[in-house]
Amino acid sequence: MSLSPAAVVAGAYFPGPRSENETWVRGEFQAVLDQWFDWRKHLFADDPCLVGPADRLSPGRLERREILSRELAELCEALTAETPTYTPRYIGHMKAEVSLPALLGWLAAMLHNPNNTSREASKVGTVIEAEAIAMLATMVGYDPAKAEGHFTSGGTVANFEAVWRARYRLDHWLSLGLHIAETTGEPLDVFASAHMGWDRFRALWAEHGLTDAVLRRCSAAVGVPADVWRRISRAAGRDYMGPVMLVPGNKHYSWSKAANLFGLGEESLWAVGLDADGRLDVDDLERLMQRAEAEGRPVLMAVGVAGTTETGEIDPIDVLHDRLERWESERGLHVWRHVDAAYGGFLCAILGGPDEAVLTPASAAALRAIGRADSVTIDPHKLGYVPYACGAFLTRDTARYAVSAFDAPYLDRPELGDGKWSSTLEGSRSAAGAAAVWLSGRTIGFGPDGMGALLAETVRARQAFEAALGEAVPEVRFLEPADANIVCFSLAAPGESLSSANRRTAALFERIHQSPEFSVSKTTLGADYASVIARHVSGFGGAIDAPGMVLVRCVFMNPYWAAPEYRAALIPSFIALVREGLGRDLEAA
Ligand SMILES: *Cc1c(COP(=O)(O)O)cnc(C)c1O
Repeated sequence: MSLSPAAVVAGAYFPGPRSENETWVRGEFQAVLDQWFDWRKHLFADDPCLVGPADRLSPGRLERREILSRELAELCEALTAETPTYTPRYIGHMKAEVSLPALLGWLAAMLHNPNNTSREASKVGTVIEAEAIAMLATMVGYDPAKAEGHFTSGGTVANFEAVWRARYRLDHWLSLGLHIAETTGEPLDVFASAHMGWDRFRALWAEHGLTDAVLRRCSAAVGVPADVWRRISRAAGRDYMGPVMLVPGNKHYSWSKAANLFGLGEESLWAVGLDADGRLDVDDLERLMQRAEAEGRPVLMAVGVAGTTETGEIDPIDVLHDRLERWESERGLHVWRHVDAAYGGFLCAILGGPDEAVLTPASAAALRAIGRADSVTIDPHKLGYVPYACGAFLTRDTARYAVSAFDAPYLDRPELGDGKWSSTLEGSRSAAGAAAVWLSGRTIGFGPDGMGALLAETVRARQAFEAALGEAVPEVRFLEPADANIVCFSLAAPGESLSSANRRTAALFERIHQSPEFSVSKTTLGADYASVIARHVSGFGGAIDAPGMVLVRCVFMNPYWAAPEYRAALIPSFIALVREGLGRDLEAA
């Protein structure tokens, strides 16, 4: 019998749910160590030895080693109390077994401990990083020859990187507008200036004979913000309230942190409404654009999410681009578009292959449009099966990557050649995540027959789970539609009120939580999801008498769900657990 491509990937590139690949993995770990020790032994072969054969077992050293062995054993023992996330029984959060290419690539790099902050501190690691970034760029639809990026500690910092760059760009444009208004006495149109685009910026720069020094005096990013804002208010003839960010209500909390951190104030984070499917409502986005224009507040960036943290929903990224590209072509207004694909970015690997139909046409179109964004966040430590901490930030080209140094991106930027230290929020950065992604790309591959096949199968596992559980337990109400490999459900009888359904769903979660058999998570959708809640509750005809909706959340990202044996074995036991929980619930009522 020939195995499916997904089963081949899951079986070859992961340790195996029962550690089936142990012997081979041990051999590979050994090979990495062999090579490392060998390299060290031969490099400065005439240098003195610190530990001679005679004193290797000297009492002091022997004792210290015994302490290390003992403490290490204790650490390893303590770690066995961790939640076992390698097993497909763990469907709690965005966490699963890491792949062998990622683990081995990570280990190989860690032994050398390169610091990707500069070429000097990481001669090989920085090259590996550039190649790994190009692989991710290709996967999300960027031209790898033009794209830029780097690895971060995670999606949170990658999102901050995007805000940092969007602010750099907006600050340049608005500073130029302020300078012209102050020198000509013409009123400042804040919104038009802040979104003028580089072509217009360059033309005005030349026309007004600007220099960096002059522009700096108009910059809120490098000057005194209070002074610059006061001058903007005066030039515009109205109080300047600063920029806003348009982020959908399904956003990750890192966006609130960003608004706080960059000094915008959380009130300046405008939540774009969600439709009844839980996805960004592009009409509402445009309404907020118009409101921002009317209030004279620039839009620092518009964000779409590919794979929301709560439910895995994929926003209509293509439609978002269509609309905002129209603002560009018709009115010359350029708004930074960022896709937060921290979770769903790797689903792009499915596109163009035999499994594409596992995605809805709308999801496929949205994922295909990621490459039209100014910048993208993607987390290899989620669906890339790479160890923590490994996120990535990508921009479409070098100009969009520009930041911090107050110069225009058309000027030479020699420091880029020396490493990324001046272009990253973080300072010292490990090369281990880059090496993990690099080796994953060279082995599993980020296309349809590698990562794509595997992830498509995790989506199918989610579908199989839904079909089986829905049929076995009619009171289970799935949140529809699910776009990726995450599914949420509540328990509700026909006509049951939301508050009662919430209580029973939370009780079921507790029941599963206490069972050693499975790990799930719980989420409560709030006011941002009002239309989602309304539609969900109308499915069982209940009354909405609670502010939020409690859901059991299951994330089917574990690679072993690709194996039919695992679905056949685990889905029935999950159903039994839910039935048992429901039985107790009825007894209690
Ligand atoms: C996980 C996630 C983040 C944050 O990523 P971290 O790696 O946890 O910092 C941001 N956005 C979305 C959509 C996410 O799912």
